[in-house]
Amino acid sequence: ATPVSIMVGTGRAAEIGVLFRKGEALQRLDSARVMAFDKTGTLTEGRPALVRAVAATGFDADMVLRLAASAEQGSEHPIARALLDATQNAPAPEEVTAIPGHGLRARVEGQDLLVGNARLMAREGVDMTGVSDALYNMETDAQTPVLVAVDGVIAAAFAVADKVKPGARAAIAALKHEGIQVAMISGDARAVAEAIARDLGIDHVEAEVLPEGKVDAIRVLREKFGPVAFVGDGINDAPALAEAEVGLAIGTGTDVAIESADVVLSSGAVAGAVNALHVSRAVMRNIR
Ligand code: ADP
Ligand code: MG
Repeated sequence: ATPVSIMVGTGRAAEIGVLFRKGEALQRLDSARVMAFDKTGTLTEGRPALVRAVAATGFDADMVLRLAASAEQGSEHPIARALLDATQNAPAPEEVTAIPGHGLRARVEGQDLLVGNARLMAREGVDMTGVSDALYNMETDAQTPVLVAVDGVIAAAFAVADKVKPGARAAIAALKHEGIQVAMISGDARAVAEAIARDLGIDHVEAEVLPEGKVDAIRVLREKFGPVAFVGDGINDAPALAEAEVGLAIGTGTDVAIESADVVLSSGAVAGAVNALHVSRAVMRNIR
């Protein structure tokens, strides 16, 4: 590609809110065979709300919610806000340890709390039988379960749900129309990730991926399909943005993600990724 055509393409992209950091990214994006998306905050709004609460026998849902919200007070995970918005007077926790990809452990009012996904409960040896029906129903309804154990005993299952961004479905369809594979990489439960992917028309899902596993997920997609473009917004996404042939950060995302990306999409819309691909295709087509 000539420097001039790349400069023109980069300028035209900037006008529609797609900032190519380097000219090579414009060229590499044209060769991408698969575009992979982070789920939370990239395909969805990233502002989940509490939609269901089921207490295990012997527990009160409101009481458990208050303890869980307390444990989440210092957390930056979107789930934390969903729980905090749904409760009042959550006491300050005595101690909190975040467990990335799982949730957290805390001491609140002298009780030992675990707040997180089924993987966390399994890891800590908590019997989930008391909420297993609720857990199943939440996942099949594409709601993320947040389980709470008090002193090692399962106490409640809460469900949070996040809205898919407007225009996301159309953007995915446009990418598929361009002949590229579309994938989703998520830390969320498989059933939840698959339900959202189905709704969006995404064919390939890597779910229950631990934060450090996103890079491996990119490599798996590369083996299967070829060069990978990855779109993400979170701190967790930075290594994957760097690993992909082209990393695209959502402009409303975290600074770490933006710094790791080759392309910044100034709006939060998924359509930005389609625009980026279109510009890259147009420039490279003119050159060939
Ligand atoms: P994602 O961006 O897909 O949520 P994470 O690696 O941050 O990926 O988290 C994976 C899963 O771990 C979440 O879907 C959630 O079930 C659980 N989790 C992580 N952090 C928390 C937290 N602070 N509170 C409750 N659950 C959490
Ligand atoms: Mg995210």
